[in-house]
Amino acid sequence: MNRIALIGAGPSGLAGARALDRAGIPFDGFEAGPDVGGLWNIDNPRSTVYDSAHLISSRTTTEFAEFPMDSTTDYPGHRELLAYFDAYADAFDLRRHFRFGTRVTDVSRVDAGAAPDGPRDLTPAAPVWRVTAVTESGETVTGDYAGVILANGTLAEPNIPAFRGEFDGEIRHTSTYKSAREFDGKRVLIIGAGNSGCDIAVDAVHHAASVDLSVRRGYYFVPRYLFGKPADTLNQGRPLPAPIKQAIDSRVLKWFTGDPVRFGFPKPDYKIYESHPIVNTLILNHLGQGDLRVVPDIDRFDGRTVHFTDGSTGEYDLVLLATGYRLDYPFIAREHLNWTDAAPKLYLNIFPPAFDGVYVLGMIEASGIGWQGRAEQAELIAAYLAACERDPAAATTFREGAAGRWPDLTGGYRYLGLDRMSYYVNKDAYRRTVRRLAASLPALPAGAPAAAAVSSEGVSA
Ligand SMILES: Cc1cc2nc3c(=O)[nH]c(=O)nc-3n(C[C@H](O)[C@H](O)[C@H](O)COP(=O)(O)OP(=O)(O)OC[C@H]3O[C@@H](n4cnc5c(N)ncnc54)[C@H](O)[C@@H]3O)c2cc1C
Repeated sequence: MNRIALIGAGPSGLAGARALDRAGIPFDGFEAGPDVGGLWNIDNPRSTVYDSAHLISSRTTTEFAEFPMDSTTDYPGHRELLAYFDAYADAFDLRRHFRFGTRVTDVSRVDAGAAPDGPRDLTPAAPVWRVTAVTESGETVTGDYAGVILANGTLAEPNIPAFRGEFDGEIRHTSTYKSAREFDGKRVLIIGAGNSGCDIAVDAVHHAASVDLSVRRGYYFVPRYLFGKPADTLNQGRPLPAPIKQAIDSRVLKWFTGDPVRFGFPKPDYKIYESHPIVNTLILNHLGQGDLRVVPDIDRFDGRTVHFTDGSTGEYDLVLLATGYRLDYPFIAREHLNWTDAAPKLYLNIFPPAFDGVYVLGMIEASGIGWQGRAEQAELIAAYLAACERDPAAATTFREGAAGRWPDLTGGYRYLGLDRMSYYVNKDAYRRTVRRLAASLPALPAGAPAAAAVSSEGVSA
């Protein structure tokens, strides 16, 4: 069977390895970092987690279904999560597939039939993809593959907006933030109130001389717990139509968290779930205690002074850009991924329309999709690859589906037209569609079960 390259050993890459193994598809894994775990391994130079990082979605809605965490923690921290991925890799013997400390630098199609945007018929010629990587010792390695799965993550490349003027103090992106001690005694301005911005603002209030949070738009703040349970575990498996869910949940939020406008946030000019909700109410507690302030959008910098759009100003030592991340697949030409604007335009966020051997795993942003959502993507890729070899008619039918009208993955929500929402999906609509299409392909074998049960301390027999 043709060999596949798999880039990344984070949660998505591990799920990819597990699914390829189950399908009996030979592959080589490449991981730039020292071990498995992706961004949850704080020692991975590409990790964007910080000391206080915990899951935002809850444990049971996030874990791999076939490998529940042996933990009672509702929102585990990054160290417990790394132990989980360690144990997952051990339990399914996945490490043997990966070359660690090996960064992929180039993925190019080298067969004669290569066309800039791939073959146009539904039965693509067998492609040859050359993968070039550099090891920690500087050695260059290359290999030729029938396909390449990109699972290199979506939250590593900082999105840095342009600002007018110059700031004389320290200015950096949250991707470099690790510990609250970095705030000691400083006047801090955090720009952006996404989930990381709010987490980090909460860290800062315990250390900084002052903390301001600059926001452009209003947000919906979802409590971690509702009715004594992790909020995202309520109503699981029974998705309501979008307008009903929006009406009920905005009412519930009004009861539990009140109106964020009281704390200085602008009123959202969109409905709940049309952008990613913020799962954090500590930020509201701290606003209520006067530990930090909400300030408007930035107009310009001038030395240590920041001018805001309402004409007010503030003096700061540290400006932290919590302005999110942008998609980045630096080692492969953009035409192979069908890029349009801020994101590749892919069938099910996975398959470039050319179907010439490139697959993207993990390029989904959604409220509550969890690692199981990524595992289902991996299973679909593996089922498709297996069908290409063993049941070409089923694979052709699958590609025919992609040549037609693409399924609606929004779940009926009208997402904001922002760059960061360009690959956003509704978890229920998405998972339902991926599972339905996977079921249209020959089933994957069950694969070897986990070798051992996992505890938060690691693997136990
Ligand atoms: C603070 C924080 C909280 C989060 N909370 C949640 C949550 O509650 N629930 C949730 O589902 N998600 C959450 N996420 C999202 C997180 O991205 C996913 O949980 C998950 O890590 C995605 O896995 P991944 O494998 O796709 O990407 P990553 O974890 O980023 O792993 C990608 C891997 O690819 C490797 N790599 C990159 N480039 C190369 C290359 N050129 N060559 C070789 N290897 C390469 C990297 O070293 C890395 O190991 C959170 C993220 C952050 C930062």
